[in-house]
Amino acid sequence: MVKPIIDDLIKLLGKDNVLTTREDLICHSFDATADMPSELPDVVVTPHTKEQIVEIVKLANKYMTPIYTRGSGTNLSGGTIPINKGIVLSMLNLNKILEIDAENLTATVQPGLVIQRLNDAVAPYGLMYPPDPGTVTTATMGGSVAECSGGLRGLKYGVTKHYIMGLEVVMADGSVVRVGGKTVKNVTGYDLTKLFVGSEGTLGIITEITAKLIPAPEYRKTMMAVFSDLDKAANTIRDIIGNKVIPATLEILDNVTIRTVENFMKIGLPVQAEAILLIEVDGIKEVVLKEAEIVEEICKKNGADEIKVAQTDAERDGLWTARRAALPALAQVKPTTVLEDATVPRSKIPDMIKALREIAKKYNLTIGTFGHAGDGNLHPTILTNAEDKEEMERVHKAVDEIFEVALKLGGTLSGEHGIGMAKAKYLEWEFGKAGLEVMRKIKEALDPNYLLNPGKIVGRG
Ligand SMILES: Cc1cc2nc3c(=O)[nH]c(=O)nc-3n(C[C@H](O)[C@H](O)[C@H](O)COP(=O)(O)OP(=O)(O)OC[C@H]3O[C@@H](n4cnc5c(N)ncnc54)[C@H](O)[C@@H]3O)c2cc1C
Repeated sequence: MVKPIIDDLIKLLGKDNVLTTREDLICHSFDATADMPSELPDVVVTPHTKEQIVEIVKLANKYMTPIYTRGSGTNLSGGTIPINKGIVLSMLNLNKILEIDAENLTATVQPGLVIQRLNDAVAPYGLMYPPDPGTVTTATMGGSVAECSGGLRGLKYGVTKHYIMGLEVVMADGSVVRVGGKTVKNVTGYDLTKLFVGSEGTLGIITEITAKLIPAPEYRKTMMAVFSDLDKAANTIRDIIGNKVIPATLEILDNVTIRTVENFMKIGLPVQAEAILLIEVDGIKEVVLKEAEIVEEICKKNGADEIKVAQTDAERDGLWTARRAALPALAQVKPTTVLEDATVPRSKIPDMIKALREIAKKYNLTIGTFGHAGDGNLHPTILTNAEDKEEMERVHKAVDEIFEVALKLGGTLSGEHGIGMAKAKYLEWEFGKAGLEVMRKIKEALDPNYLLNPGKIVGRG
């Protein structure tokens, strides 16, 4: 069965776009997620057109072979792992910007385009596309739309779903649908655009994306506030928002992360601090200066030990170095980095951070916590070694408990990293049996044979 489908794929795409060497298969057997099972696909295909994708889907139906759509493979929920073997469909050759419509503030792009390339292309128009995952220079627009990824600017600007206006999608039966469009208002029928955003390649293959652009902020002010007490940092977050200042970015690094980053980078971070907050306000200059003043006052009132305000772009970059280094620094400590995405209402951040400390103690694990405190999206990062079976058992128990606590605090399983394989087993905790069944009905209505990214989000009942 594998040989005939590969022959058909070569007829369709040419030999160069059908990869079957062991090296190619291994490279497409995993993604950026730690501690996941991996499996070699039967074949990797690299089409150049939507028409070819339609034909690939028809072949998948003929041979009943699963298809795993893949962008850059940077997702953190096991979303691209070809767990049932079959075809990995790489979108990297569909990478064009089809239109920048500065008048309507939209851009239409192919899914394999790297996110940063869109921002570079719209910058001369004074525009920007706000979703900015840490992987903005590697992740694709298609992967980002399919994960509904977020990023550092999420507090003020939201996540990918807030910027996707229209999509073209190849469905599991090979039909092509267009949903949404360029109009600011569009309430016609069910919101199918939103349904496909965050669907992680399980409902259709996105072949074209119309994204909303916004005017780029003219001015920014960045600062770092140092706290010797976690509660004081948490109160500061609450008070900034309570005073109706919505920073573009409001990030927290806990003591484990501060010490690890300092050890790795030697940039003079306060290693005794319980937490640092990194805050950036942006917009019209006069407003930004006023907001920065309010934020500084709130930090002082809440007992910040020190506040550093960047005066130049170089100083701004310096302040962000610590945040950018958080994950690479933590990843240096142990061979395996289990990065989670539990998200709580922002008023519950102190409870969540305390719970994470207790979980670390209870299971005797090192957990570094950093993340988007302003929007309640923390990234507790467990430093471990996948080879150490006994420790991994404790890691799995700790992860279960992290999600249990997040949900108890009124939170959610994912703020921006999606469900994939990694969190599928917890989905019922958040949605209940009935909710999960609704998801399964949607999946089975659109992909009755589970050909599209099987084993991700929702499985067969
Ligand atoms: C160091 C690091 C930092 C990160 N920081 C962030 C962050 O700040 N915020 C954040 O949200 N995420 C972050 N991520 C996660 C990841 O980068 C994002 O989820 C990203 O959007 C994935 O894009 P990708 O092109 O790599 O997609 P892939 O990983 O290739 O695919 C992701 C999912 O999308 C599906 N898919 C891909 N293309 C299509 C398509 N055309 N049609 C249908 N389905 C498709 C795949 O099947 C899969 O389910 C980070 C990851 C790493 C490793």
